[in-house]
Amino acid sequence: MLDYVGLEADLGQEERMIRDTAREFVDENVAPDIGSHFENGTFPEELITEMGELGFYAPNLEGYGLPGVSETAYGLLMQELEAGDSGIRSMASVQGALVMYPIHAFGSEEQKERWLPDLANGEKIGCFGLTEPEHGSNPAGMETRAERASGHAGDEYVLSGSKTWITNSPIADVAVVWARDTSAEGSPVRGFLVETDKEGVSTNEIDEKLSMRASVTGEIGLSNVRVPESAVLPGVEGMKGPLSCLTQARYGITWGAAGAARDCFETARDYATDREQFDTPIASFQLQQGKLAEMATAITTAQLLSHRLADLKERGDLRPQQVSMAKYNNVSMARDQARVAREMLGGNGITTDYSPMRHLANMETVYTYEGTHDIHSLILGQDLTGFSAFE
Ligand SMILES: Cc1cc2nc3c(=O)[nH]c(=O)nc-3n(C[C@H](O)[C@H](O)[C@H](O)COP(=O)(O)OP(=O)(O)OC[C@H]3O[C@@H](n4cnc5c(N)ncnc54)[C@H](O)[C@@H]3O)c2cc1C
Repeated sequence: MLDYVGLEADLGQEERMIRDTAREFVDENVAPDIGSHFENGTFPEELITEMGELGFYAPNLEGYGLPGVSETAYGLLMQELEAGDSGIRSMASVQGALVMYPIHAFGSEEQKERWLPDLANGEKIGCFGLTEPEHGSNPAGMETRAERASGHAGDEYVLSGSKTWITNSPIADVAVVWARDTSAEGSPVRGFLVETDKEGVSTNEIDEKLSMRASVTGEIGLSNVRVPESAVLPGVEGMKGPLSCLTQARYGITWGAAGAARDCFETARDYATDREQFDTPIASFQLQQGKLAEMATAITTAQLLSHRLADLKERGDLRPQQVSMAKYNNVSMARDQARVAREMLGGNGITTDYSPMRHLANMETVYTYEGTHDIHSLILGQDLTGFSAFE
């Protein structure tokens, strides 16, 4: 596997073990069938609990049975899962960084005890509802409302609104829904743990996707959904709630994108070595070598960036803008290099028999979700100049 500057030599035992477990899991359980899942637009749901048993959901958190592995180990896990497919990594990212993280960081003791162990082992599935039909890049404009009311069991909130493009909503047991609390001064954004079997919740699937096909995506409709006050995440108010979760998930994505690109590189290199034209392997042609050299260099640069983020995150110095830079660079790199790999496979490259076209299609989503490429460019622009071009 491509590791041109020998980053693996510095890994600890636990980090190697997690990387190897994830790599083996992908080889044995993902790679054989992911092409047909992609074609059929299905997620291999039988893997959800297996991924839980292997400790793939938020292993970088501590307590409540979570092992608190290093940020490098967590990153390597994301890298290996996305080398399999972005849909598999998305499953782990949403469950871990977007559902377990906010409960862990902002939840009550009761919420943590109730949800974290079951989410960790995959017995329960979570989703993260921030995006709305009219508010994507600007989630602060959200219209979903929570209003205080008194109910049979004491104080309640009544939630109304709709969320869209929500990974796993149709198969989720619980949704972290971000809504404006209209009963509080200034209508701050609050997080609510909404069980999806509540009256008034609907979770229609979006199935016309041409990207991220091996992942379940849907809407969340909230029609006067009554939840108890104990469903509010007590530890956070305002947009820093959802944004801090996004920083966690984006960190994993920077690693994941490098993994998808690495898989494209390995596939293209193998293919070019085997495939003969003009009586010689196409790998012997300078044009093809130039493409491999460019790919290997771009992937190595992305790996270095993610490894550096891991060190900063480990010592608590990581800034969201640095994560933006790595998401901006690594995903765009993976999108470009997947296309080059696809091209090197000729006609075979457009099939699901090989991974590059699938990764390329997936990268269109990864380029767009968790802050579009444009938005990360604007975040960097603001950080570099002091002027916000988007707020
Ligand atoms: C498969 C998939 C899964 C997803 N999963 C989730 C999930 O689990 N939870 C969740 O909450 N969301 C999820 N999303 C939603 C995703 O985060 C949004 O699609 C994304 O934030 C972009 O919002 P939008 O699609 O409304 O595009 P828009 O915000 O309408 O943007 C359209 C275009 O305008 C550009 N643009 C917007 N504002 C500016 C500006 N100020 N300056 C310059 N250009 C600008 C954008 O870059 C983009 O190119 C998912 C999306 C997909 C496709």
